[in-house]
Amino acid sequence: MVIIQNVGQYLLDNGIKPSIQRIKIFDFLMKNHEHPTVDKIFLSLSDEIPTLSKTTVYNTLKLFQSQGIVNIVNIEDHETRYDCDTSFHGHFKCLECKNLYDFELENTELNINKFEGFKITESHYYLKGLCKSCLSNKI
Ligand SMILES: [Zn+2]
Ligand SMILES: [Zn+2]
Repeated sequence: MVIIQNVGQYLLDNGIKPSIQRIKIFDFLMKNHEHPTVDKIFLSLSDEIPTLSKTTVYNTLKLFQSQGIVNIVNIEDHETRYDCDTSFHGHFKCLECKNLYDFELENTELNINKFEGFKITESHYYLKGLCKSCLSNKI
Protein backbone atom coordinates (compact mmCIF):
# COMPACT_ATOMS: atom_id res chain seq x y z
CA MET A 1 0.00 0.00 0.00
CA VAL A 2 1.44 3.31 -1.07
CA ILE A 3 0.46 6.46 0.82
CA ILE A 4 1.86 9.72 -0.41
CA GLN A 5 0.52 12.86 1.25
CA ASN A 6 1.66 15.38 -1.30
CA VAL A 7 1.37 13.85 -4.75
CA GLY A 8 2.37 17.10 -6.48
CA GLN A 9 5.64 17.21 -4.58
CA TYR A 10 6.21 13.50 -5.17
CA LEU A 11 5.86 14.01 -8.93
CA LEU A 12 8.23 16.98 -8.81
CA ASP A 13 10.77 14.97 -6.83
CA ASN A 14 10.67 12.39 -9.61
CA GLY A 15 11.19 14.90 -12.39
CA ILE A 16 7.54 15.18 -13.46
CA LYS A 17 5.73 18.47 -13.83
CA PRO A 18 2.67 18.08 -11.63
CA SER A 19 -0.35 19.03 -13.75
CA ILE A 20 -3.83 18.53 -12.28
CA GLN A 21 -4.46 15.57 -14.58
CA ARG A 22 -1.19 13.89 -13.62
CA ILE A 23 -1.90 14.38 -9.93
CA LYS A 24 -5.43 12.94 -10.31
CA ILE A 25 -4.17 9.94 -12.23
CA PHE A 26 -1.49 9.15 -9.67
CA ASP A 27 -3.95 9.73 -6.86
CA PHE A 28 -6.35 7.28 -8.50
CA LEU A 29 -3.63 4.61 -8.74
CA MET A 30 -2.81 5.13 -5.10
CA LYS A 31 -6.40 4.89 -3.86
CA ASN A 32 -7.47 2.05 -6.12
CA HIS A 33 -4.95 -0.59 -5.51
CA GLU A 34 -6.60 -3.16 -7.75
CA HIS A 35 -3.99 -2.29 -10.42
CA PRO A 36 -6.33 -0.54 -12.88
CA THR A 37 -6.07 -0.53 -16.67
CA VAL A 38 -6.01 2.62 -18.84
CA ASP A 39 -9.71 2.09 -19.59
CA LYS A 40 -10.59 1.81 -15.92
CA ILE A 41 -8.68 4.96 -15.00
CA PHE A 42 -10.15 6.87 -17.93
CA LEU A 43 -13.73 5.84 -17.17
CA SER A 44 -13.36 6.59 -13.49
CA LEU A 45 -11.86 10.04 -13.96
CA SER A 46 -13.62 11.30 -17.08
CA ASP A 47 -16.59 12.66 -15.09
CA GLU A 48 -14.32 14.59 -12.79
CA ILE A 49 -12.01 15.77 -15.59
CA PRO A 50 -14.12 16.26 -18.74
CA THR A 51 -11.08 17.30 -20.79
CA LEU A 52 -9.32 14.02 -20.11
CA SER A 53 -8.68 11.69 -23.04
CA LYS A 54 -7.63 8.08 -23.07
CA THR A 55 -4.43 9.09 -24.84
CA THR A 56 -3.58 11.48 -22.00
CA VAL A 57 -4.08 8.70 -19.48
CA TYR A 58 -1.90 6.40 -21.53
CA ASN A 59 0.85 8.98 -22.05
CA THR A 60 0.80 9.98 -18.39
CA LEU A 61 1.22 6.36 -17.31
CA LYS A 62 4.06 5.97 -19.79
CA LEU A 63 5.74 9.01 -18.30
CA PHE A 64 5.24 7.68 -14.76
CA GLN A 65 6.72 4.39 -15.85
CA SER A 66 9.76 5.99 -17.44
CA GLN A 67 10.38 7.98 -14.26
CA GLY A 68 10.16 4.80 -12.23
CA ILE A 69 7.11 5.63 -10.09
CA VAL A 70 4.76 3.17 -11.78
CA ASN A 71 5.23 -0.43 -12.81
CA ILE A 72 3.24 -2.26 -15.42
CA VAL A 73 1.60 -5.58 -14.74
CA ASN A 74 1.09 -7.78 -17.80
CA ILE A 75 -0.30 -10.86 -16.13
CA GLU A 76 -2.68 -11.29 -19.10
CA ASP A 77 -1.62 -10.77 -22.71
CA HIS A 78 -4.61 -8.64 -23.56
CA GLU A 79 -4.48 -6.22 -20.67
CA THR A 80 -1.90 -3.93 -19.16
CA ARG A 81 -2.44 -2.88 -15.58
CA TYR A 82 -0.61 -0.24 -13.62
CA ASP A 83 0.84 -0.33 -10.14
CA CYS A 84 2.14 2.65 -8.20
CA ASP A 85 3.71 0.35 -5.63
CA THR A 86 7.19 -0.08 -7.05
CA SER A 87 8.51 -2.08 -4.13
CA PHE A 88 9.53 -5.66 -4.87
CA HIS A 89 6.42 -7.84 -4.86
CA GLY A 90 4.58 -10.39 -6.93
CA HIS A 91 1.05 -10.53 -8.31
CA PHE A 92 -1.62 -13.16 -7.96
CA LYS A 93 -4.60 -13.17 -10.27
CA CYS A 94 -7.79 -14.88 -9.21
CA LEU A 95 -9.28 -16.70 -12.19
CA GLU A 96 -12.76 -16.46 -10.71
CA CYS A 97 -13.21 -12.84 -9.58
CA LYS A 98 -10.34 -11.52 -11.76
CA ASN A 99 -8.95 -9.53 -8.86
CA LEU A 100 -5.26 -8.93 -8.66
CA TYR A 101 -3.55 -9.36 -5.32
CA ASP A 102 -0.10 -8.32 -4.21
CA PHE A 103 2.02 -10.85 -2.45
CA GLU A 104 5.24 -10.26 -0.61
CA LEU A 105 8.46 -11.74 -1.84
CA GLU A 106 11.23 -12.18 0.65
CA ASN A 107 14.11 -12.97 -1.58
CA THR A 108 14.99 -9.89 -3.52
CA GLU A 109 18.10 -11.60 -4.78
CA LEU A 110 17.33 -14.59 -6.93
CA ASN A 111 19.89 -17.13 -7.83
CA ILE A 112 21.10 -15.51 -10.99
CA ASN A 113 24.88 -15.69 -10.62
CA LYS A 114 25.20 -17.42 -13.94
CA PHE A 115 23.82 -14.31 -15.54
CA GLU A 116 26.97 -12.31 -15.15
CA GLY A 117 27.36 -9.47 -17.58
CA PHE A 118 23.62 -8.98 -17.95
CA LYS A 119 21.69 -6.09 -16.55
CA ILE A 120 18.17 -6.75 -15.33
CA THR A 121 15.86 -3.76 -15.56
CA GLU A 122 12.53 -5.44 -14.94
CA SER A 123 11.31 -8.49 -13.09
CA HIS A 124 7.80 -9.87 -12.79
CA TYR A 125 6.38 -12.61 -10.63
CA TYR A 126 2.93 -13.80 -11.53
CA LEU A 127 0.77 -16.46 -9.98
CA LYS A 128 -2.76 -17.48 -10.88
CA GLY A 129 -5.40 -19.46 -9.07
CA LEU A 130 -8.34 -18.92 -6.79
CA CYS A 131 -8.38 -16.34 -4.03
CA LYS A 132 -9.46 -17.05 -0.47
CA SER A 133 -12.94 -15.60 -0.78
CA CYS A 134 -13.70 -17.36 -4.08
CA LEU A 135 -12.49 -20.63 -2.59
CA SER A 136 -14.73 -20.24 0.45
CA ASN A 137 -17.71 -19.47 -1.81
CA LYS A 138 -17.26 -22.85 -3.41
CA ILE A 139 -17.73 -24.79 -0.19
ZN1 LIG B 1 -11.36 -14.45 -6.32
ZN1 LIG C 1 1.15 -4.69 -7.10
